[in-house]
Amino acid sequence: MIKEENSKSVHELLYEKLILNNKNGFSKISEEEENSEQNETKKMKIDSINNFCKDYKIFLKKSKTERETVDEVVKLLTDEGFRALENLDTLNSGDKIYSVNRGKGVLSAVIGSEPLEKGISIIGAHVDVPRLDLKPNPLFEEHGNAYLKTHYYGGIKKYQWLAIPLAIHGTIVKQDGAKIKICIGENEEEPVFCITDLLPHLAHDQMQKKMNEAINGEILNVLVGNIPHEEKKVKDRVKFNTLKLINEKYNIVEEDFLSCEIEIVPAFNPRDLGFDRSMIAAYGHDDRVCTYAACRAIIDAKEPPKTAVCILVDKEEVGSLGNTGMQSRFFEDKIAKIISLKEKSYSDLMLRDTFSKSICLSADVGVAYDPNFPEVFEERNTSIINGGVMLSKYTGSRGKSGASDASAELVARIRNIFNKNGVIWQMGGFGKVDIGGGGTIAAYVANLNIDTIDCGVPLFSMHAPYEIAGKFDIFMAYKGYKAFYEDKD
Ligand code: MN
Ligand code: MN
Repeated sequence: MIKEENSKSVHELLYEKLILNNKNGFSKISEEEENSEQNETKKMKIDSINNFCKDYKIFLKKSKTERETVDEVVKLLTDEGFRALENLDTLNSGDKIYSVNRGKGVLSAVIGSEPLEKGISIIGAHVDVPRLDLKPNPLFEEHGNAYLKTHYYGGIKKYQWLAIPLAIHGTIVKQDGAKIKICIGENEEEPVFCITDLLPHLAHDQMQKKMNEAINGEILNVLVGNIPHEEKKVKDRVKFNTLKLINEKYNIVEEDFLSCEIEIVPAFNPRDLGFDRSMIAAYGHDDRVCTYAACRAIIDAKEPPKTAVCILVDKEEVGSLGNTGMQSRFFEDKIAKIISLKEKSYSDLMLRDTFSKSICLSADVGVAYDPNFPEVFEERNTSIINGGVMLSKYTGSRGKSGASDASAELVARIRNIFNKNGVIWQMGGFGKVDIGGGGTIAAYVANLNIDTIDCGVPLFSMHAPYEIAGKFDIFMAYKGYKAFYEDKD
């Protein structure tokens, strides 16, 4: 829902929506308008949206796991002159740095002109996405087929993972520490993998079951082979043959599966959606859309007065635990390090003072009003697709349980930054109050005594193998994040 004082922006928004892609979709620009100076600006705006989204699709295509996402982010950062924090022994205003956390998270920062103790501007997003992980002993043969056993990660609707093309991505660490990267199923020439579903003809009993009971987690076995090995003496010849093929390709043995992180992900690539190409359908918008927008914002931010920090974390989908999740000490450790290198001195109090004056945008996706399911939404307090970047005062469920709930003062401050910088935004919510809800990293950042508010992109089909985001919202998230970093008040 857009606020009244934004009414001019609403008009602008609708106009931009109509001509979002004037090259390949339909256009509302008349020939008369074509030449006007005002229209030049509009065309530039549309080009900016389309170019940004084009780059985002390229990023997303290469970022199907948290490790791949971090690798892509580091490429973006180093291309723009960001340097590894670990290699520096002093920091000055204008310096750009990054620090990787075990390949699954990364903090980047641009040192501001003001002292850190006046507070820093933080944007936090997560790089993990719901998926199927391989179990430690994954490979088995059953009835002449080879399968991989999985354990799902994060909140999925299990039935959505059957009968779709799947790819295998991940890292295997050999006993000697050597790392082998795996990625198969993405190119046209490569095979894909699949979890089979029951044909409707024989699914009478299955179709009577509740949706959360119809597919048992233990049947999420990925079909990976069918040809038996020629050696007749070995047991499980199809499994043996599959293992041999894997060994030839990656030089690994069965025991190596015990020390691997292999993820089964949808094999589809990001595509424009709609005749007007106004949306993007893809795997992993949650939360790589905010990840990408935040990275581009810290790269493009012009001389941020306060130190700008972008923290990308893992494990959000399973509670933000572990040393790569938001609840780990990594974030505090790196800010402490930055303080010590910038201020040439350090105390615990300096770190606490810095946090107490800092603001964080918890950059995560939210729900968009879906007219196919009106029964779960409260229309007046739900974001819409292509209505602008979404602010959420609180998340949580049933009585705001689990929410950090941003203060009215913070909402006012962010509203002001967005309005004065032409960022089109909307206030979001998480469905009807008694129905359910969700959470983000916001509460864990807020626990550090940092003013935190959720701010991201609304989605259709969140957590599905194919999620939908609006191009206009993606661009406005970037614009909003950049304005936040550059804000001088
Ligand atoms: Mn998320
Ligand atoms: Mn999520």
